[in-house]
Amino acid sequence: MTETGLHHVTAFSGPAARNLDFYTRVLGLRLVKKTVNFDDPGTWHLYYGDETGRPGTILTFFPIAHAAPGRAGIGETGETAFAVPRGSIAAWIDQLAAHGIDHDVPTKSFGETVLRLRDPDGTALALVGTDADGAEPVILGFHGVTLRLAETAPTAAILTDVLGFTEAAREGDAIRYAGTAAQGCFVTLQADPAGPRGRQGAGSVHHVAFRAADDAAQEAMVAALTGRHGLAVTEQRDRQYFRSVYFREPGGVLFEIATDIPGFSVDEPADRLGTGLKLPANLEPHRARIAAALPALD
Ligand code: ZN
Repeated sequence: MTETGLHHVTAFSGPAARNLDFYTRVLGLRLVKKTVNFDDPGTWHLYYGDETGRPGTILTFFPIAHAAPGRAGIGETGETAFAVPRGSIAAWIDQLAAHGIDHDVPTKSFGETVLRLRDPDGTALALVGTDADGAEPVILGFHGVTLRLAETAPTAAILTDVLGFTEAAREGDAIRYAGTAAQGCFVTLQADPAGPRGRQGAGSVHHVAFRAADDAAQEAMVAALTGRHGLAVTEQRDRQYFRSVYFREPGGVLFEIATDIPGFSVDEPADRLGTGLKLPANLEPHRARIAAALPALD
């Protein structure tokens, strides 16, 4: 059966080296791909994920050294949450303290323990205790994202009619939708009718990508978006590790639909993911110039 859920989340950050240090050393994610923004090759595009970079575990960043901070608001992702073992919250508190990272007091949300924190650029993150066994501070993949919206119904229609989600629970004025995948299956819509509009910058999520098994599944989703919902969708773009289309959902959040194929081992072996600077074929002739201009990662 086709799995539905998040494919990846992409955000803006400040300096690349600080971003790499936080996500690999503090959160323990693997750098699974070191490439550039295909639309702006002077900027890194860093991909973090699990050992093999499975869909549902991938958080990516466009680091810009002197980026202005974003302003949180409606029409964007308010929080990106990772799933961790339920018994690991205490160990995570120790792990964050050891690295001098502030966090909130754990709270309960939708029946689960949630430990909220921010990355060095202010990106709102959460660690959510799930049913998985273990007490070690590890990340299992995404838990999900929370979108802040003026109204939730139009976005909910896209989630349920096109992206393979169903309503799972309600709490206050938040509604949680679930896909079928083991990692990254939750999207929570938080209504905030009077909230200010968000302004993107360092610490903001740029877009949220959803899974399609292959090109045919993606085409069917595009047909539903354009035919039944009247939305404009981009042409398919080859992102080397997946193929993508983009659209602005009715609440203002940029959504992407990315194929599960071909995956991150298409240009380097699985045990060496993230070790080399990888460029798409059209940028390969400019490798020396691109590599020399990229900011240092350490
Ligand atoms: Zn993307």
